[in-house]
Amino acid sequence: MLALTDPALVKTRSFINGQWQAAGPHRFAVVNPANGKTLAQVDEATLADATMAVEAAAAAQPGWAALAAAERAAVLIEWQQLLLQHEADLALLLTLEQGKPLAEARAEIRYGASYLGWFAEEAKRLYGDIIPAPASDKQILVLRQAVGVVTAITPWNFPNAMLMRKAAAALAAGCSFVVKPAAQTPLSALACAELAQRAGVPAGIFNVLVGTNAQQLGEVLTTHPLVNKFSFTGSTAVGKTLLKQCAEGVKRVSMELGGNAPFIVFASADLEAAAEGLIAAKFRNAGQTCVCANRVLVEETVLERFMQILLPKVQTLKVAAGTEPGSAIGPLIEAKAVAKVQQLLDDALDQGATLLHGGKPHPAGPLFFEPTLLTGVTPQMQLFQQEIFGPVLAITSFNTEQQALALANASDYGLAGYIYSQQLGQVFRLAQALQVGMLGVNEGIISNAAAPFGGIKQSGYGREGSRYGLDDYTQLKYVYLGGL
Ligand code: ADP
Repeated sequence: MLALTDPALVKTRSFINGQWQAAGPHRFAVVNPANGKTLAQVDEATLADATMAVEAAAAAQPGWAALAAAERAAVLIEWQQLLLQHEADLALLLTLEQGKPLAEARAEIRYGASYLGWFAEEAKRLYGDIIPAPASDKQILVLRQAVGVVTAITPWNFPNAMLMRKAAAALAAGCSFVVKPAAQTPLSALACAELAQRAGVPAGIFNVLVGTNAQQLGEVLTTHPLVNKFSFTGSTAVGKTLLKQCAEGVKRVSMELGGNAPFIVFASADLEAAAEGLIAAKFRNAGQTCVCANRVLVEETVLERFMQILLPKVQTLKVAAGTEPGSAIGPLIEAKAVAKVQQLLDDALDQGATLLHGGKPHPAGPLFFEPTLLTGVTPQMQLFQQEIFGPVLAITSFNTEQQALALANASDYGLAGYIYSQQLGQVFRLAQALQVGMLGVNEGIISNAAAPFGGIKQSGYGREGSRYGLDDYTQLKYVYLGGL
């Protein structure tokens, strides 16, 4: 079942201090969501493992930070090259445990690897400052130093990229790193550890803890006294709990939480491009991304025409296992996710939404759901207020720009947003006024290593990627030189 070109990429135990751990008493199954078959049995990390990983990371970190930035960069570049060389194997592993179409998995491996390349370069530009002092015999220096030991918890929807964009920034800055990936997708993270080791990442600098006891492992990662910073990507509810845990030790935190992205199509838009962008922004990863278009707002005057363009595109999306050629929509991650999508859909239909396509599980298997198109969605419906996290396109109409803006901003979340418009003034007004951390203008796919990814409001704080991405992993030290 796991027929990889390089079978050594399949690992089933935690990786701590440069060592694969010995077998423990408890194991858990990693299941292929496309067919329910067990892919591997993985050993549960214990609390002692978590403590050992943090201690190893603390012991190794000063030596790593003391290397020249160019030396750290060389290791990260080697790691990137190895990820790219093993793209096919890593993508297959990802698709098997996560479900997304193979083409998307391959793109994710390249995307995840791109953070290593990006931050390897940025590491060399961790400039400090010299600031004019208030007296002529003094000097103010500002140093940017590594935060220290970074721990992280990552989600199952991008098992490679969510991990790599944190790890790349942390290691580039001179931090050490301990991650607990989601229990549904541990194999992708463990494969990254195997390649880290081959790339020459020193023992203790990159550690992976795999287990289903998220709460207990999370407790160690957020409260251990040797942890300096905690970075999380996942739901807002869990993020709030972890923030509270971090508060006790005043850990620095980065939080990349849920979204409820508005996608606004104005009358002036190129409707064909808007429909293409919407399909990409909605159905990637079967709708299971935090930047997925969630509330689609379409100007009333073009609604009918837009739906005529959109509907055939939704109808032709192929639902199939991610390993099948041409698959556009794979399975959802688990039964709970399917039930949630169905419940949100039923609520919308009960409240008067109109179903134009889909609306039920797909015969490909118990975790598959049809791509679904709904119109007449109103702000009272649950799927307007919550992240759908499934392949359901929910359309709401509006009449004026002010109305669209008010609808878009009426959310506790503020991660991504999208607008399609050909009016420069309108684009600029919306770019200023929309309460989001990221905005796609006439563009449905916005993530890349050069751009600062992150949200506002209850979507979290901190930015990943871009030249700002190292800020979260460095701290300023001001040095006052006197008697000069
Ligand atoms: P999702 O809805 O994407 O599964 P979660 O926030 O539930 O989002 O999960 C994201 C990550 O957080 C996963 O690695 C999961 O194991 C972990 N997690 C979930 N609950 C907790 C918790 N109480 N403490 C620590 N980690 C948790």
